Amino acid sequence: MSKSMHDPVSVLSGVGDKRIQALKELNIHTVLDLLTHFPFRYEDLTVRGIEDIEDNEKVVLEGQAVSDGVLTHFGRRKNRLTFRLNIEQVIVGVTFFNQPYLQKQVEAGKALKVYGKWDGARRQLNGIKILPVSSSSQGKEAVYHTTKSIRQSTLIKLIRQAWDAYEGCISEYMPESLLKQLELMHFAEMIFNMHFPETEAHLDRARESVIFREFFLYQLKMGWRRKQIRLAQSGSSINYDVKQLKTFFQSLPYELTTAQKRVVNEVCTDLKSRHQMFRLVQGDVGSGKTVVAAAAILAAWTDGKQTAFMAPTEILAAQHKASLDEMFRKTEVRVELLTGSTKKKEKDSILADLAAGKVDCVVGTHALIQEGVEYHALALVITDEQHRFGVNQRKALREKGVDPDVLFMTATPIPRTLSITAFGEMDVSLIDEMPKGRIPISTYWIRPKHFERMAVFIQKELAKSHQVYVISPLIEESETLELENVTALQATYQEVLGPDIQVGLLHGKMPPAEKEEVMNAFQSNQLQVLVSTTVIEVGVNVPNATVMVIHDADRFGLAQLHQLRGRVGRGAKESFCILIADPKGEKGAERMKVITETSDGFILSEKDLEMRGPGDMFGFKQSGVPDFKLADIAEDAAVLEEARKEAILLLSNEAFYQDPQFSGLRQEAGIDISQLPVLD
Ligand code: ADP
Ligand code: MG
Repeated sequence: MSKSMHDPVSVLSGVGDKRIQALKELNIHTVLDLLTHFPFRYEDLTVRGIEDIEDNEKVVLEGQAVSDGVLTHFGRRKNRLTFRLNIEQVIVGVTFFNQPYLQKQVEAGKALKVYGKWDGARRQLNGIKILPVSSSSQGKEAVYHTTKSIRQSTLIKLIRQAWDAYEGCISEYMPESLLKQLELMHFAEMIFNMHFPETEAHLDRARESVIFREFFLYQLKMGWRRKQIRLAQSGSSINYDVKQLKTFFQSLPYELTTAQKRVVNEVCTDLKSRHQMFRLVQGDVGSGKTVVAAAAILAAWTDGKQTAFMAPTEILAAQHKASLDEMFRKTEVRVELLTGSTKKKEKDSILADLAAGKVDCVVGTHALIQEGVEYHALALVITDEQHRFGVNQRKALREKGVDPDVLFMTATPIPRTLSITAFGEMDVSLIDEMPKGRIPISTYWIRPKHFERMAVFIQKELAKSHQVYVISPLIEESETLELENVTALQATYQEVLGPDIQVGLLHGKMPPAEKEEVMNAFQSNQLQVLVSTTVIEVGVNVPNATVMVIHDADRFGLAQLHQLRGRVGRGAKESFCILIADPKGEKGAERMKVITETSDGFILSEKDLEMRGPGDMFGFKQSGVPDFKLADIAEDAAVLEEARKEAILLLSNEAFYQDPQFSGLRQEAGIDISQLPVLD
């Protein structure tokens, strides 16, 4: 039988059931998996002089054994091998723990090369291993991620064995011309140099090639998916009436910003075309996304089509409904709210009207597209702050015979590198400009011991009839603790501020109706202070609130702090954000400084990504950021951009789909050209 890179690891000698299992834990099943299990770092095995070694540094020293090795046993099954090494007339001690078998290698007068950790105070090397003197070791030895079940040295041996046996089977999936153009190392040469680097320069090139290939393949995949989505015939081409749209814009109390106009145009182009819209509108808090959504709803309405508008919470749904009603005052567009707390009778009549086409836009939570909701002519779905309207929901809709255009909106400033990876299959529109006349929010960072002083400041704001938000600490581990905290905090504020001030309480465990009641009370200024968990974070709009106090601010991500801060400064009044935090390390302090100095959500999210990584970013815990082996979307942002550019270029090239030299690459990227829908 001929050998293939997809052979199971069991073909290698020394790989029985136990090792198969151990390798499985590392996600290694085939020879290819093994050969692409790349090291995460390298040990420097260059022989060093002893003058410039730092304490605790791991180094290789070469010299002559002054004496035979002495083995001392102590305790049960513990032992120590000691000897002295003469390194150009300087004598240092060497100690190995629990490697008695090394004793026979250590003879007086013999040349030895020892890798170990330098103990500066005792001028002694704590040995890790003895290297063959002949090893012209190019200086680097690979270190792999491993588990308890398999040793580093075993892994290295297996990889070596796999390389020797399968070297000839490694085939390049990219055409030669493309490799040249992109200056990539050949696949086999890259694999070899990742494991057994010939020189430092080879290793650098190998690493660059791995990273580029990872991004490139992913972007090809995403680009292909985008193409498929766009070319899918939704049949929901919306022939809107431009005149009515213009009238609508004229009816607004403000002129759209240049960015809003651009995004409205992008959305409208999608609506009109027979290509399906799958577009993400990103705009910082307060950049005015709602009116963009309204424009899309209105456009659909002029063509007799319906919209479903989904918000993440009932409060936000209610707020969107109110905003839309206000904007559509001078139109005939009928908007209805449908949430879990809508009364049965009302719900039934809304559902009936939806099915009959008498309701033009329904606002609600995700239930809108699930249970027995029938539409007369649903052509557009808008989701606010829900990144997860995905394959399943679309399928559910398609099964009902509708395949609407989809517009995602988010105020989460997603760094570009993250958005083109996690949301690679979407088109992205950016509202990168704020409406004129906004007063920037002043942000301060204080230590908890200055609470009293801050309370005085709050009282001054309250005396001007302004309102205040207070956010209690984020306690991810325990909802109960979080609840205790927020309740205690409410009591504290009530006591400090006195009986003339009404301090309200809002948290995630409240029933929706109660939440709404509290929000309404705050909105109408019956409550002057609102102590809350982060449930209010997105979209809530109370222009009279001018102060946002955030307790234990260092527990939040920068992007999330920015979101919370965006709850104030929504009116014409000067607003403040006060962060209370006692961060431990330098990093925490730096983060607090960054947010006090920056009001640009995108800069903050870039910082967040840099400092905490994508996994931690607010809203992205379960996002679709793939696990790249080596590539890092923050660190390798420039490579990502390059790979994306090249991928898009290639996807627009007819030859890519026809020329057999690209078939390997297409296959590697999971691109099946028989699935390309044709547009008539
Ligand atoms: P977000 O992007 O955070 O959802 P909103 O759509 O809620 O922002 O808009 C925030 C506020 O800005 C609203 O009160 C809205 O009426 C107002 N607004 C939106 N666009 C403009 C504009 N071009 N000029 C002035 N105010 C605007
Ligand atoms: Mg909004």
